[in-house]
Amino acid sequence: MSEKMNYILGGGVSGLIAGYLTGYPVIEKSITKIPPLFFLWKTEETEDFVRRLNFDVKTRRIKIGYYYKGDFVSPNEELRKIYSNKIGRDSSMSEMKTELKTIDIDINDFLSRLKENVKFISDEIIAIKGKKLIGKDNTYNYNKLVSTIPLPKLLSLLNMSSKNLIYSPIFFFKTKIYDEKILNSDYDYFYVIDENIYIYRITKQPDSTYICESLYPSFMTNWRTTLLSIRRAEFGKILEGSPPDLSSKNIILLGRFAEWNSKIRTHDVIKKIKKELL
Ligand SMILES: Cc1cc2nc3c(=O)[nH]c(=O)nc-3n(C[C@H](O)[C@H](O)[C@H](O)COP(=O)(O)OP(=O)(O)OC[C@H]3O[C@@H](n4cnc5c(N)ncnc54)[C@H](O)[C@@H]3O)c2cc1C
Repeated sequence: MSEKMNYILGGGVSGLIAGYLTGYPVIEKSITKIPPLFFLWKTEETEDFVRRLNFDVKTRRIKIGYYYKGDFVSPNEELRKIYSNKIGRDSSMSEMKTELKTIDIDINDFLSRLKENVKFISDEIIAIKGKKLIGKDNTYNYNKLVSTIPLPKLLSLLNMSSKNLIYSPIFFFKTKIYDEKILNSDYDYFYVIDENIYIYRITKQPDSTYICESLYPSFMTNWRTTLLSIRRAEFGKILEGSPPDLSSKNIILLGRFAEWNSKIRTHDVIKKIKKELL
């Protein structure tokens, strides 16, 4: 049994950033998976943070498109409603922006630099009792716990109900798309608004393939495509519910899936760590 310490549970992007900034050890069950789509928004927090990791701050302008009835269109409130209906929750549809400022960064390099500078414990936590994390390899007596693992998983470790947390898995289909309109467009990602197309968002990859996101496991589009691979993200789309108060257990939730809030992105995570943990 270890002495009472502060720990971070989960070594995804949020856990690694928190581990780097706080110095608390990060407990992670597997090798960090790289998020399939990842743009680091350019904000005061992210600029500061990448500088600390010795990266240059290079701006990249991401172009956002909106596809409807066979063409790229200007977003409007009516289309946003159709899209929200399609995905089963109110969506801002990137606030109907057509451009986004991001930091041009290699995400693999970003994660490696973080990993080199965090105390990493490779273990899977299988239960939390009292203020003890019970892992497959060890038990960790915690003082403060920062949980970045998906909330339904945390609640199950705590033996608490998660039945108010409604979600849908997301399926990521890596594809080649042979459609003139899409191939000739220069959008980094675009929303597919049509309700009869299962895919709801498409992101262009550096190798000119496309990642198509869908709430359905079968891949069907209106375009000629070649399917290269499929990945499933279990808790992908958060639809309903909110976290219980875990302050008496001294647990702080951090990150989109831990806080159960689909609006949270990496820059929000950095902001919260600075406000609540440093
Ligand atoms: C489709 C999509 C696109 C997104 N695009 C962007 C974007 O462009 N920019 C942006 O800033 N954000 C984006 N986000 C939001 C968010 O930044 C990412 O989802 C991010 O990858 C979430 O990382 P995380 O560390 O919070 O959670 P996770 O990646 O879920 O990390 C949790 C970690 O906990 C580990 N774990 C789970 N259970 C246990 C256990 N019992 N014991 C030990 N370890 C455990 C898991 O192995 C995992 O590594 C996107 C999200 C989605 C779904």
